[in-house]
Amino acid sequence: MKGTSGITLSDNRKTGPMANVYRTVGVTCPSSCPLLERGCYAKRWPVALHSKRAQENTLDFKAFLSRVRKENPSKIVRLNVSGDVFLNDEVDTEFLNELIDGAKNNPDITIYGYTHGFEKVHQAGFTPDKFPDNLTLLASVDSEEEAAKAKSLGWKYARVERDYDKKAGKDEVLCPIDAAKAKGKEPKTTCATCKLCFDKRYEGINIVFQYVKGGRKKKGGA
Ligand code: SF4
Repeated sequence: MKGTSGITLSDNRKTGPMANVYRTVGVTCPSSCPLLERGCYAKRWPVALHSKRAQENTLDFKAFLSRVRKENPSKIVRLNVSGDVFLNDEVDTEFLNELIDGAKNNPDITIYGYTHGFEKVHQAGFTPDKFPDNLTLLASVDSEEEAAKAKSLGWKYARVERDYDKKAGKDEVLCPIDAAKAKGKEPKTTCATCKLCFDKRYEGINIVFQYVKGGRKKKGGA
C-alpha cells in the first residue's frame, strides 16, 4: 500500500484499543473533499505527523494484519485516520484490492474506515457488496442529497449534524460519544466497544456526528 503506514495498537481515548492506518493527506484524498482545505482534522498534530510519515512508506498489509493479530487484543483496524482511498485523485484500486484480500484472508480481524469519495469508489466497481463482512467502508457525506444517494447505492453513511438535539433521521443513530459530549457528559463508550460504525449487526444503520466548527477535530471522526 503506497503512501501508507500503520500502528498495531493505539489506545486513543475515543476509539479505544485499535490498530490505525494512516495515509498521506492530499495525495490519497479525493480533490472533491470539502474538508481538504477547510479544517481537515488530519492536518493537525499529532495526526499530521503520521500523515507525513506515511508519505514515503509502503505498508505490507499482509504482514501488518499478522502483527495486529498478535499485538492488538481488539483485532480492530481503523483505516485512514488520515487520508483516503485515492491516489492522485484516482481511486486507488491497488489499495482497495489489498484491503479486500486482507479482510478475506483474516476473517477474525475487523477493518473499517470512511471515504469522502464514495461515488467514485462505487463507479470504479468497489460497490458495498464487494466488501467482505469484516470490512466496512462508510461514505462520509456532506448533504441530505448525498446521504440519499449513498443509501440508494447500498452504502452505509456517516454525516455531520449542526443541531445535535434534533433526532436522528430514519435509519440513523447519533454517535453515542458525540451525543454524550453534546450534553456535557463524559462518554461511557469507545468505538472499540460501541462498534456501530462497523459491526455487521448494525448494517443499514447510518451514523450522525456532531458538527464541529472548522471541521471534526477528534481522531476517529469521519
Ligand atoms: S458511532 Fe462510530 S464513531 Fe461513534 S462511538 Fe460508535 S463506532 Fe465510534
